[in-house]
Amino acid sequence: MFLLPDYRVRQRDYLLSISRALTSRLDLEEVLGLIVQAATAMLGADVGIIALRENDTFHIRAGIGVAAEQLPLFDELLEGLPTHPEEELDVALFQSRMRSVARKINLNLRQGIALPMSFGEDMLGFLFVFRTYAGTPTDNDYRLLQSFADQAAIAVHNARTYEIANRERQRLAAILDRSADGIMILTPNLRVERWNRALARMTGLSAEQAYDRPHEVVIRWKRREMGQTLEEAIAEGWPRRYPGESAPDTIYVQGDLERVDGTTISVGITYAPLTDEDGTLLNVIANVRDITHFREAEKLKSTFISVVSHELKTPVALIKGYADTLRREDADWDRETIRRGLAVIEEEADRLAELIENLLAASKLQAEGMKLDLDDVSLPVLVRQAVERFQTQTDKHTLVVDFPDDFPIVRGDRVRLRQVLDNLLSNAIKYSPEGGKIRIRGSFDNDWVQVDVSDQGIGLPPDQLDRIFERFYRVESSLTQTTKGTGLGLYLAHAVIRAHNGKIWARNNPDKGVTFSFVLPRH
Ligand code: ADP
Repeated sequence: MFLLPDYRVRQRDYLLSISRALTSRLDLEEVLGLIVQAATAMLGADVGIIALRENDTFHIRAGIGVAAEQLPLFDELLEGLPTHPEEELDVALFQSRMRSVARKINLNLRQGIALPMSFGEDMLGFLFVFRTYAGTPTDNDYRLLQSFADQAAIAVHNARTYEIANRERQRLAAILDRSADGIMILTPNLRVERWNRALARMTGLSAEQAYDRPHEVVIRWKRREMGQTLEEAIAEGWPRRYPGESAPDTIYVQGDLERVDGTTISVGITYAPLTDEDGTLLNVIANVRDITHFREAEKLKSTFISVVSHELKTPVALIKGYADTLRREDADWDRETIRRGLAVIEEEADRLAELIENLLAASKLQAEGMKLDLDDVSLPVLVRQAVERFQTQTDKHTLVVDFPDDFPIVRGDRVRLRQVLDNLLSNAIKYSPEGGKIRIRGSFDNDWVQVDVSDQGIGLPPDQLDRIFERFYRVESSLTQTTKGTGLGLYLAHAVIRAHNGKIWARNNPDKGVTFSFVLPRH
């Protein structure tokens, strides 16, 4: 065969430029293109092709010497190629397929060499070259081609390793970023290496802004209530590794952090050291947890205790006071005084019973959700009964019922719906101390029935129209200070309506007072 006299020099040139391409950031397709071009030129061949293996099939990834649209015709060569470096290529089959391809592409391919590209145990693909003249490839041809096949194998291996590492890195970044907790990774000299999205949200400092800044600059404690700061702990020799323990100790610090905008946020931070086998510190990994919710729960608990103790103490004191007075043996009470005293005792006992009922319902609701006892319910009837009960308690308010005659029957839990109406009516009375009209209106369409309870009372601050349905939530005002209540009524009403697949909301009236509305599905 004919080889250019300076082929060794050219071979080195090619191999050098391929090595350069391998170490530069060229993508895999480009490197493969370069290799197949060099191999074809060096061997004085006419056509060159590289096919890569994916699972059990091979796909052409680079070709030279044929038009791109003819490349798929070479797929025929790829069937049944060995998928393991130890398997032998069936040379006769390969030659006959080569002739079949040659006929199809109208090129007189008379000589073909197929060399496996393998990396260790892994068969990565094949490098093919074809010549249009007859002859047998020499050992030198094979050696030369093998050097290119090896280069290609390295390129593929590198690209795949890089891709896997890259994917792994992206996955890790995504995990860090999606974590609901703030995560920060620090270098051994306590500069920020990573700062995830949750932490950016908590502190108001973006990852770019935090990057490479010292820990003490980005984590500024406004108030500390537990534990040492990282800097203090390090001054005392953290992290220490205790004999017999596999992992070094972590530290926890809790308090209020100053955010970028000057506000504060309550957090708990756990710092864990990452060390190598010799105990050298590689990174500090910090997990920052927003404990505002936890704080709110604590507040809720103390509100609960103060509300309950206040609400229980008042009626009990009244009951005890009246009972004491009435049973004094040195006094002779007239019938009217006794009647009024007993009325107060009864009212206060009812209030206690209602409070206890509400508390039980709320804690049960939290524990097991709401269970409904469904029945056919006539809301106009329920409303009229409630109005009758409440009208006797007030002469300052006029209660008006306005329901169309054909108001539909709904499926619902009668006892619970009565609780909702009772609550809305008692609130309407409580929060309109000047009196006025309280109107309960019914309406419906094909899908829903709606009940509106409107009063002419004090109304609600617009930003609290939703919050009043939260557990124990009461609007802070002089009236709520003096009126009895636990902030549970609307929470329970909301839960009842939700359990019926309905909705409840409050809107201020254009002139005065509030309208509470709820809808229930008709079917
Ligand atoms: P409470 O036991 O305090 O009445 P609720 O859950 O029934 O608890 O109501 C929560 C808060 O919503 C009340 O404390 C009050 O501030 C406000 N509120 C409820 N109904 C009305 C109303 N009709 N008008 C004005 N404010 C109301």
